[in-house]
Amino acid sequence: MSGPDSQIVCIACGAVNRLPPARDPAAARCGKCRKALFSGQPAEVDGRMFQRQIGRSSIPVLVDVWAPWCGPCRMMAPEFARAAALLEPAMRLIKLNSEAEPQAAAALGIRGIPTLLLYRGGREIARQSGAMDAASIAGWAQARLRG
Ligand code: ZN
Repeated sequence: MSGPDSQIVCIACGAVNRLPPARDPAAARCGKCRKALFSGQPAEVDGRMFQRQIGRSSIPVLVDVWAPWCGPCRMMAPEFARAAALLEPAMRLIKLNSEAEPQAAAALGIRGIPTLLLYRGGREIARQSGAMDAASIAGWAQARLRG
């Protein structure tokens, strides 16, 4: 049995890595910069890396849009990190700081934070505002991906 290769965008350098189905993405390293493709922690991204992750990943990408001044965002941060442990490497979890990347956040039409955005194939398929715990984050994303 062999499915299509998966396409994983390195979170450190942005290189697109093609992995055959037999390769465990959780153990794989970037062919360009040699860093682990998944660290077990959601990575902070800038607007450029955000676009690259959602545009070039074959796996779904779950984005936490947050800001340092937002109390509920800070409360949700460890929950989002736990969700990464549950969901990666089947999904990529990233964090977009709307204070550091105001143009990216504005382009997304973010009205309140924290907001979760779920992308598949470069398209937003769901969004949800408000703090959630890890199990709720994982359950929400998996339910939306099932359709
Ligand atoms: Zn890399």
